Amino acid sequence: MLIGRILVVGGGTAGWMAAAALAHKFAGTALAITLVESAEIGTVGVGEATIPHIRHFNATLGIDEAEFLAATMGTYKLGIEFVDWGRIGDSYIHPFAEFGDAIDGVPFHQQWLAQMGTAGAFEDYSLPIQAARQGRFRHPEGGPYNYAYQFDAGLYAKYLRSYAETRGVTRREGKVVDVALDGESGFLRAVTLESGETIEADLFVDCSGFRGLIIEQALGTGYEEWSHWLPCDRAIAIPCTNSGPIAPLTRATAKQAGWCWRIPLQHRTGNGHVYASGCLGDDEALEILLAELPAAPIAAPNRLRFVTGKRKRQWVGNTVAIGLSSGFLEPLESTSIHLIQVAIGRLLDLFPTGAWDPLDAEEFNRSMALEYTRVRDFLILHYHCQQRDDSEFWRHCRAMTLPDSLAYKLELFRERGVVVQYREGTFQEPSWLAVYLGQHVIPRHVDPRAGGEGVAAAMAAMRAGIAAAADAMPMHEAALGMPA
Ligand SMILES: Cc1cc2nc3c(=O)[nH]c(=O)nc-3n(C[C@H](O)[C@H](O)[C@H](O)COP(=O)(O)OP(=O)(O)OC[C@H]3O[C@@H](n4cnc5c(N)ncnc54)[C@H](O)[C@@H]3O)c2cc1C
Repeated sequence: MLIGRILVVGGGTAGWMAAAALAHKFAGTALAITLVESAEIGTVGVGEATIPHIRHFNATLGIDEAEFLAATMGTYKLGIEFVDWGRIGDSYIHPFAEFGDAIDGVPFHQQWLAQMGTAGAFEDYSLPIQAARQGRFRHPEGGPYNYAYQFDAGLYAKYLRSYAETRGVTRREGKVVDVALDGESGFLRAVTLESGETIEADLFVDCSGFRGLIIEQALGTGYEEWSHWLPCDRAIAIPCTNSGPIAPLTRATAKQAGWCWRIPLQHRTGNGHVYASGCLGDDEALEILLAELPAAPIAAPNRLRFVTGKRKRQWVGNTVAIGLSSGFLEPLESTSIHLIQVAIGRLLDLFPTGAWDPLDAEEFNRSMALEYTRVRDFLILHYHCQQRDDSEFWRHCRAMTLPDSLAYKLELFRERGVVVQYREGTFQEPSWLAVYLGQHVIPRHVDPRAGGEGVAAAMAAMRAGIAAAADAMPMHEAALGMPA
């Protein structure tokens, strides 16, 4: 193996996830992994909701779920509730599950579209939605739905730090102030700390957050900005005490120029307001968030600025950017930690074991660009397909020109309910269906085979079965082992 030393720069969620995964993968080898972080700079300090893929990450590392939930104050998450998105007064849930079952070989959503108006709501055919609406949770045990977690990302990083250190990762405290580049190859050789000490490595993982210390500041890779499609560029976060039952879901409520999140953990509720500074002042944004809080705040507001988009290349020479250093997409569908996980997985798959092959970097950059683009398109869908008329922000989003990749996908669904499928990309058909139908995108035509004899009875039976199964589930607090 050519690579003997890895240096992870940054100890936020990305840095410690990367260090833990590398330590797990290379356990028993001579590979030396070091992580440098600066307590003075600190981490971004938010990041709480996830999607189900995180379970695979934890399972691969051999992490016990109960221990992890206790360490991170985590809760279960059956989906995301979108309030006031399609129209003011709306509420729909994006679950991690399919809706209904195919009837007579016809996809369920086509049967439902053919019976629209008489077959009840689309969400009546989703067990996790029915459970989440009642505050209930049960492990699916291989059943018809999936689930994710809501947790304190700072505690998760701490937990993974202990995991990584136990497996030989060396942590160094210090601020990186300079980097040494090899003039000929352009590869990074070492970083210099404020103390004057240098740390050499063969592979650098840049997890330095928004500043992109190596990937941007040293290597100048460039940024592809997407704010013309996703105009929110600021956020304010405030945690508050818990009040009432702990919902097994994340809530995103649309506001006049953005949206507010609510994420229940065991010990507190995370709240935030993501907004477009071109349409809303910072003071007004804070007022909107404070009015949304379900209980008393327990910390001062944490204000953040971001530019939606991604680095033009995320792997350059012997540096791989992971986490906020690689790009940022707002947390509307809880995808940031997931994109960290995807990047770590790609790095491990492509880990250079022989000579440095430029194809490794090319493939990493190709696949990460695709992941980012597909999440981006899914997010734009929420903003574009709505019927709100209460602000310039929403009118602008409805009128904007879409990226070709989304325009194509949307038109196919609008014509006769076809969801374009692809192998790579985080969100698959059920997720797109939840948002299309939740935001009132109704196809012009349905599958001609839909609506045969007996379909209405089959659907009624399905609905009743789901309602009964949801009623039988324990409350979320009981599933977490907490007092009700
Ligand atoms: C408003 C908002 C809400 C979010 N909500 C969610 C969510 O619900 N779900 C989700 O999945 N994600 C969410 N995210 C994203 C999530 O917070 C990040 O993806 C995640 O925390 C990873 O951050 P990071 O480790 O890349 O960067 P950071 O947390 O910023 O960590 C950077 C690290 O680099 C170190 N560092 C920086 N410069 C130097 C230097 N010069 N020398 C040494 N060390 C240095 C810092 O000390 C720190 O340890 C949200 C983000 C924002 C902005």
